[in-house]
Amino acid sequence: MEKDIFCRIIDGEIPCHKLYEDDDVLAFLDISQVTKGHALVVSKKHYDNFLSIPQEEMHKVMDVAQKIGQVDIKFLGARGVNILTNCYEAAGQTVMHFHVHVIPRYEGKEGFILEMKGNEEKLNLPAIAEKVKINLK
Ligand code: AMP
Repeated sequence: MEKDIFCRIIDGEIPCHKLYEDDDVLAFLDISQVTKGHALVVSKKHYDNFLSIPQEEMHKVMDVAQKIGQVDIKFLGARGVNILTNCYEAAGQTVMHFHVHVIPRYEGKEGFILEMKGNEEKLNLPAIAEKVKINLK
């Protein structure tokens, strides 16, 4: 079976802006940045989605998502955070490998995808990743 894109990132075949890694969990910036700092937290072991991952492993992923959300508020200037996960194509899941989105919400221009349009070049992904990474410790 062909590997999905997140398995390839986990195996180091595709680069990512890494935020956090341990034996079970990897977190990195979403390539499409709905807002500044939009992160994905994935289980290293392959499961299709939230509905099929065993509870214990799902909790490990959620623990990391919570920490990233806390860092977004404390260090990225976010005023809120959306934590969400899509299950199956009908619900908008495009990568069939369990992942949780952590989407910081800001006041003003950085808040929503429509306001980001055309401003993508202003995002310095390595700098954003570094800021989250050092504060996750
Ligand atoms: P979903 O639609 O919930 O399955 O989310 C999949 C997410 O993966 C989308 O937000 C994509 O932007 C993101 N994505 C796809 N390929 C990559 C990649 N190579 N690196 C980082 N994020 C990616």
